[in-house]
Amino acid sequence: MNPRWDVVVVGARAAGASTAMLLARAGLRVLCVDRARYGSDTVSTHALMRAGVLQLSRWGLLDAIREAGTPPVRRTVFHYGDETVAVTVRPTPEVDALYAPRRTVLDPVLADAAVRAGATVRYGTPVTGLLRGHDGRVTGVLTRDRDGRPREETAALVVGADGRSSLVADAVGAPVRYAGSAAAEIVYGYWAELPVDGYDWLYRPGVSAGAIPTNDGLTCVFAGGRPGVVAGLVRAHGPEGALCALTAPGPLGPGLAAARRVGGVRHVRGVPGRLRHPFGPGWALVGDAGCWKDPLSTHGITAGLRDAELLARAVLAAPRPGRAQLAALAGYAASRDALSLPMLRVVEQIAAHDWDLPRIRALLMELSSAMVDEIELLTALPPAA
Ligand SMILES: Cc1cc2nc3c(=O)[nH]c(=O)nc-3n(C[C@H](O)[C@H](O)[C@H](O)COP(=O)(O)OP(=O)(O)OC[C@H]3O[C@@H](n4cnc5c(N)ncnc54)[C@H](O)[C@@H]3O)c2cc1C
Repeated sequence: MNPRWDVVVVGARAAGASTAMLLARAGLRVLCVDRARYGSDTVSTHALMRAGVLQLSRWGLLDAIREAGTPPVRRTVFHYGDETVAVTVRPTPEVDALYAPRRTVLDPVLADAAVRAGATVRYGTPVTGLLRGHDGRVTGVLTRDRDGRPREETAALVVGADGRSSLVADAVGAPVRYAGSAAAEIVYGYWAELPVDGYDWLYRPGVSAGAIPTNDGLTCVFAGGRPGVVAGLVRAHGPEGALCALTAPGPLGPGLAAARRVGGVRHVRGVPGRLRHPFGPGWALVGDAGCWKDPLSTHGITAGLRDAELLARAVLAAPRPGRAQLAALAGYAASRDALSLPMLRVVEQIAAHDWDLPRIRALLMELSSAMVDEIELLTALPPAA
């Protein structure tokens, strides 16, 4: 049977919309579906790392992020207790600065680019199951259209970009290759009149916090710690009180007290990191669906953009189902795992909050070194066909 689509991508945010865009740009027939609304928000503190900005720049989408008023981040300041270390973001022709676009900005920029490239992107469309051939191969998805009617969409390949609780990963029984045990609990919100000069990361024993300049003149402020501690503060003082209590002893405290909160403060429970095997006959995983890291990594979006590139290249190297495609997908898995596993291991230790200040500095150096590996791999890729 001839499938209707070359690829169906489930999920239309960082990982899914990027994958759909890249495959459609190469001429594949791509359907990308998401149960959410176009332009809707999602939990995130938005900070992109260099590899994420590099991808947006190479895809020709960085101007749209800048034009949406996303402020450039030209330095990162680390506060270790009372000690401060400032690191300038080295500008290159492709990455002039870092950016932290709201998801209401980033996700539509990616989805619009996918549509311009020829992909069909449908919102309000949940995938409820997978279709299988007689040999067990995944052959498409079962969706519900906007009127609630079930609909089958056949595809040569189904990509699960459906986030941490991926239906695709569960349905195919994607084996778990790494399972962490630590998870920080986080509170975060937005403040106006809280100017910050770049990313501000604060560490003191038991607490990680940060301030991230984003769109509309707002600064996103988060604080995380061990689940019991943060949950106890939230119970006692509410989410905003918990955030203020966690940040008060640091340099952010006075500014935050004088600033104006915009919207509510969210309390997000932690989920330990997990890496799943990302492909099999007729299916592949990208983004959080295949690799979830504690948000304190501030690296999930960047990893999603990176892995969209790696997965799209693998699919384009062997677009037809068969051994060649499985071999290409194995290459994708190997690159993703080589970059992800060191990060997962270090982020697990950061999230556990068992460190003292010298130890967190060492852990952040390890994370930074994993990010250098990531940039080197992406920079060395030949230009996309
Ligand atoms: C509190 C918090 C703060 C964070 N801060 C940062 C940060 O500062 N920097 C950073 O890089 N990362 C951050 N992250 C992580 C980042 O948000 C994720 O890694 C990133 O969103 C992953 O993108 P994705 O496209 O893989 O999945 P998602 O963004 O989760 O998108 C998945 C999409 O799939 C759709 N979907 C799911 N199931 C179905 C279905 N059955 N049918 C149809 N559609 C479906 C969903 O509606 C959703 O739109 C943070 C995460 C949290 C929780």
